[in-house]
Order: sequence, then structure tokens, then C-alpha cells
Amino acid sequence: MKVLFASSEIFPFAKSGGLADVANSLPKALSKQIDIVSVMPLYGFMDEKKLNKADISFEINLGGIEYKIEILFTKVDGFLTYFIKAPLLSTTLNLYGDKEAYANNDIRFGIFSASIVQLAKALHAEIVHLNDWHCALSAFWLKDTGIKSIFTIHNLAYQGIFEKDSLSRLGIGFEHFNMDDLEFYGKCNFMKAGIRYSDVLTTVSPTYAKEILTPTYGCGLNGFLNLYKRKLHGILNGINRDFFNPKTDELIFKNYDKNSLNLKQKNKKELYKKVNLTDIKLPLFVMISRLVEQKGFGILLESIDKILEKKLNLLLLVDGQSKFKEPLMQIAKKSKNFSLIFGYNESLSHQLYASADFLLMPSLFEPCGLNQMIAMAYGTIPIVHGTGGLKDSVHEKSSRCGKGIVFAKPSKKSLLLAIDRAMKLENIKQLQKFNMDCDLSFDESAKKYITIYKEILK
Ligand code: ADP
Repeated sequence: MKVLFASSEIFPFAKSGGLADVANSLPKALSKQIDIVSVMPLYGFMDEKKLNKADISFEINLGGIEYKIEILFTKVDGFLTYFIKAPLLSTTLNLYGDKEAYANNDIRFGIFSASIVQLAKALHAEIVHLNDWHCALSAFWLKDTGIKSIFTIHNLAYQGIFEKDSLSRLGIGFEHFNMDDLEFYGKCNFMKAGIRYSDVLTTVSPTYAKEILTPTYGCGLNGFLNLYKRKLHGILNGINRDFFNPKTDELIFKNYDKNSLNLKQKNKKELYKKVNLTDIKLPLFVMISRLVEQKGFGILLESIDKILEKKLNLLLLVDGQSKFKEPLMQIAKKSKNFSLIFGYNESLSHQLYASADFLLMPSLFEPCGLNQMIAMAYGTIPIVHGTGGLKDSVHEKSSRCGKGIVFAKPSKKSLLLAIDRAMKLENIKQLQKFNMDCDLSFDESAKKYITIYKEILK
């Protein structure tokens, strides 16, 4: 079985969120058992000189325009990743946009999707595993090739919605512009191509697979998804335990394991030299996240005065521009026990996981969430709103792996009560050790994907 795994971001080459982590760790876990290679775009910020030129190149024609495509590759830890070098796609300095999304993302990711199909043919792949809207159109173009496709939804909130004329610019006929196909409230929707034309549809946790069929979480696609629910599976993500391992992590100050958990305090002491916090005896609560509504910053802002009245420190590492930035900055200016760091910083994020006592995730919805799993690997107790993958991976009452504080409603009251419950925990060390022993890797889920791949080829 030969599989081509396609994603718009793959760690360590490009990352804006959890998709990049998954696109790194899942194919690696799969590669222990099957023949799998990955593909992603080459972006303008990448150093092309570090990559090799493949002897594959082709032209694609979209809407009457020819695009010349070159293929590059690299092998890291024996694992092969291909890069699509294409006009428009590979010249940008960011993945998806600067302050705003790039106006030609329809064409950029249309080119990416069409190139995936050509690459799959060149590599004689039998299955193409597509992730999120950026490569969803590949499912449409794969339909008559004999190559099978599986489409994974990592976050239904991002669907790739563009003006109607995007279709003609990509050479897709208007017979596909209707509500059963790619049309969506007068525009076209790339995600719908992945949902409709893939052979199998998956999403990243069993609970999210049920949630997206409902109006509350369906982002306008619940009706459409219900038509395809027979091919929909929910498979929980995992994390790369080699990379997220406090025993070997080179990005943290002091390595530790479940038998030397007191060394977390040493990490905290070092971290506090860099951030605006002092008392290391107080429990440290952290959030490490994109600064968007989804992650529960509305609830956090409503509750923050009350949170900061408690005997704790709060530290946020957040990335992105949003309405939450200014009010959070104002609060940080006048608070001794609250520190705020803006930007995307991989090393610092590891140092926060290693130093913190608790990780807050008041997400309104969460397809899977990786932060809570990374936190558990570092002996940091997650406090989560029980939705999507958070509900499947964090448990307060049952004896299942892993353990943390779970609140049912995303509200100020529930969050404050959850923090109180966390601060009253008596058996913290036991919980930390229990979580560090949990299998948070992708191995179990990889088996489920392999079963699906085998089914598709039958
Ligand atoms: P999402 O993909 O919705 O952003 P996930 O929980 O699936 O959320 O994955 C988030 C990933 O991005 C985790 O690896 C997390 O540690 C990382 N991350 C989020 N924000 C930052 C940041 N500001 N700096 C560094 N890493 C971050």
C-alpha cells in the first residue's frame, strides 16, 4: 500500500497550529507499518537550498492558465517529504496571509490541490490522505483517476470559502455550483469538495465527529455532513512523544521525568527570569494558543479579574491579532500575577509546559486539541471545557487516561469553579504521574487509519 499524505503545513517546515504537529506525527507513526510519504507547499520563507530537486516536474492547467510545477524533497529521520514549488503558492512570506488572508488563496491552494493529484500519479500512490480545506479540491480531481482519497477535517470552522468565480478560474464547471456540490450561500466552498468526493471522511476525535453533525458545531455544513455520515469516522489525534518528552526535550531548562517532578520548579524558576512573574511558590496557570474566539478568550476576559484575585500566577503565550489583544495588555500592565507574551515561540511553549502546574483550555469548541496532551506529557494538569477532543482525552471522574479538571459549560462561573477545584486538588503528584504514563502517542490511532486504508482498497 502506498499513501501520499498531504497538508498545507508540516512541522518543522511550517506551522501555524496543531495541523502541522499532526501532519508530522501521524505519517511518522504510520510509516512504521506502511509505505507513506508526505507533501506540502514550498513557501517563500523556506530555504530552498536545504531541499533536493526531485526528477518530477509537470504543468497543470487551471481555467486556461498553465502553471509550471517543480517538486523538491527532503528526508528527515528516514521519512520523505515532498514540496510543491509553484507560481503564486511559493512566493508568499507567510502560509495563509499577512494581516488578512491572501486574496488569491483560492488559486494558491487550487494549484496545491491539483499538484497533489499529479504527484500522486507520478509516485503511483494508491491512496491520498488529504487534510483540511487547503487540499480538499484534490478529492474532486481524484474522483476519476482510480486513486482513492481520505479527507480529514481538523477544524470545520475553516472551510475555504471564496467568490463564485473561483470555480471558473480553477477550471471547474458551473454544473458543480449547486447546494449538493461546491456551492455555499452564493459562494464556493472547498471543504465541501473534500466531504463529498473523498472515499472516506474522518475528523480528529469521536466527540467532534458527532458534534459536527449538529447545528451548534456544524458551521453551516451539518446538513451536508449528515448526507455523508456513513463514511465519517472520529479518530483521536496523538502527539509525537519523542519531541514532546520532558526527559529529553532540549528546549527546556532542566529535564525531568515522573520520578523527578520536583524539577518542574527549577524550570519555573528559570522561566520567571524571562517573564514578568515572581513568586514561584504560587501555582502557575498557563494558556498557549492562537488568540482567537474559539480558544475561549471571551470567557477568560470575563473572568480574569476574579482569577487574578486568587493565589496564583497566570501566564499566556498567544499568537495572532485580535480584539482580545488590547484588553489583555491593559490588564497585564496593572497586574503583578499576570504576564502576557505575544507571538509564536516553540521553545518558550515547551518551557511553559515544563514549568506550569495547570493548563487552561476554556475552548468554545475543540476538534481535538493537542495542548492538553502535551501538557499531560509534561506533568501539567489540564483544565478544559468538555467539548470535542478535550472531552475524549481529559477526564475528571472516570479512571480513563488522562486526568484533569473538566467543566461542562463554557461560562465564567464554570471556569472559576474549575480553577477552584484545581487549586484544592490534594493528589496532584499522583495525577501528574498517571498522565505521564498514558499513551498519548499516535500509535493506537495510526492502527485505526490503517484499517480504514485497507478498507478503501478492498
Ligand atoms: P490549533 O491547531 O487549533 O491551534 P491545537 O491544540 O490542535 O490547536 O495545537 C496547537 C499547537 O500549537 C500546539 O503544539 C501548541 O503548543 C502550539 N502553539 C499554540 N500557540 C502557540 C504559541 N503562541 N507559541 C508556540 N506554540 C504554540
